[in-house]
Amino acid sequence: MTAMTFQQLEQDVLRPDLCTVCGACQLACPAGVIGFDGLTPVLTADSWTAADCGECTDCLTVCPGADPGTPATEERLFRRTRTPAERWTGIFDEVVAGHSLDPVVFEASASGGSLTALLQTAMAAFGVTVVLSMGRDADEPWRAAPALVRDPAALAGTAQSTYQLAPYLGALRPVMLHEPDAKVAMSGVACHIQAMRKLQAMDTEAGRWARDHVVLLVEPACSSSTRPEGTAAVITQRAEVPLESVVRLRYREGEYPGDIGIRTADGQDHRVAFWQAVRDFAGNKTHRCLSCGDWMSGLADVSVSDGDPNIFAASVQGGDQDKHGRVFIRTETGRKAMAEGFARGLLTHRPVDLAGLNLGLERKRNRRASYEESGKPVPLGPLPHYREELDIIPDEQLIAAPAEGEHA
Ligand SMILES: Cc1cc2nc3c(=O)[nH]c(=O)nc-3n(C[C@H](O)[C@H](O)[C@H](O)COP(=O)(O)OP(=O)(O)OC[C@H]3O[C@@H](n4cnc5c(N)ncnc54)[C@H](O)[C@@H]3O)c2cc1C
Ligand code: SF4
Ligand code: SF4
Ligand code: SF4
Repeated sequence: MTAMTFQQLEQDVLRPDLCTVCGACQLACPAGVIGFDGLTPVLTADSWTAADCGECTDCLTVCPGADPGTPATEERLFRRTRTPAERWTGIFDEVVAGHSLDPVVFEASASGGSLTALLQTAMAAFGVTVVLSMGRDADEPWRAAPALVRDPAALAGTAQSTYQLAPYLGALRPVMLHEPDAKVAMSGVACHIQAMRKLQAMDTEAGRWARDHVVLLVEPACSSSTRPEGTAAVITQRAEVPLESVVRLRYREGEYPGDIGIRTADGQDHRVAFWQAVRDFAGNKTHRCLSCGDWMSGLADVSVSDGDPNIFAASVQGGDQDKHGRVFIRTETGRKAMAEGFARGLLTHRPVDLAGLNLGLERKRNRRASYEESGKPVPLGPLPHYREELDIIPDEQLIAAPAEGEHA
């Protein structure tokens, strides 16, 4: 028997380089025959010999690589699709400036810890027993790897932005298969949220599980992510540290917005300026990330972006913003989580407006527009047939290296 549907996934998504590495195909496959070779989904060797692929098409249906499925999910969640004015933010009810009130989470977080506080709230108030968030590989702690967290205090350890791709949603598979009573909350960037929402709409065992068990979805904004090689370059070339000696890696260490912090086995802490790392990352992006049409999926219960709209400049010159995030509350569940978090003293918030350009969003808009013009395959955007009109500024210009002596 040939595994025709997986071949279709290869043809439609993997070959045109549209895979986001979200891992949803691995989670959704009823035969359990999808694994990863690095960042690439593959049929596991056993499946070829056992011919286990049932040709059910679930891997294709769940995949957000070519089609994130935004309008259908919006109809389900909000009973309408977004307007052109909502092109990049998605539909939301309210936006506030927020941060965690737990000093450990606040310190560990990327922009104040609103997301971590909401995940802790889900454990305290919604009966959540397992949280999926992005952690580190146990053997190679500089590598990103999904983490299943069961202790609210341990969530501080997976706070922070991880600017590195790693297969993600497949980590929920053992929970789905072996923990019938588990209730799950997850954080994830746009493509993770899109995939989970697609799965929740599917009339399959995995789809039913996702609907019944995954009760809170929160997302950090995502300008783009980077292959592991990008992080490896920062560690070995900028910090001049061998990868094997790394015992801890944080992307946003120290005073907001923070720098790359690398701890080595000898107890030494090494720092690389955030803006330098951003420039090193630039050469290590996938086509899918570069052409990505979503800054936020707009489909999470709550989404959070940096409070300082230009952390690249803040990293060069020093920032003047207190550490906080802009918190977009979208669904009834999101509103309840915010209220419970506030009532339990886990987070606080204040009014904010959306003034100020966000550099990550500007870069994304420009890259997306240039890829739309390029004629290369690009993933569908959230508004079918809508193309943004703008004078495209090259990415290198948006993150130009500062002149000598310009940085603080
Ligand atoms: C790749 C990436 C690009 C970003 N680009 C922008 C941008 O352009 N502009 C902007 O304003 N903000 C951007 N952000 C978001 C910003 O850096 C903060 O993550 C956000 O403001 C939330 O901060 P927080 O303190 O509330 O979250 P925290 O409390 O620090 O929690 C962050 C949560 O997100 C999860 N997470 C982190 N990285 C990943 C990942 N790669 N995959 C899945 N889950 C992850 C963590 O596990 C944790 O649960 C980006 C984040 C990422 C990960
Ligand atoms: S999801 Fe279905 S079609 Fe895809 S690999 Fe698994 S069994 Fe085959
Ligand atoms: S985008 Fe996600 S679901 Fe699609 S092939 Fe890649 S890992 Fe699988
Ligand atoms: S840029 Fe898009 S595809 Fe890449 S990690 Fe972010 S949301 Fe996913």
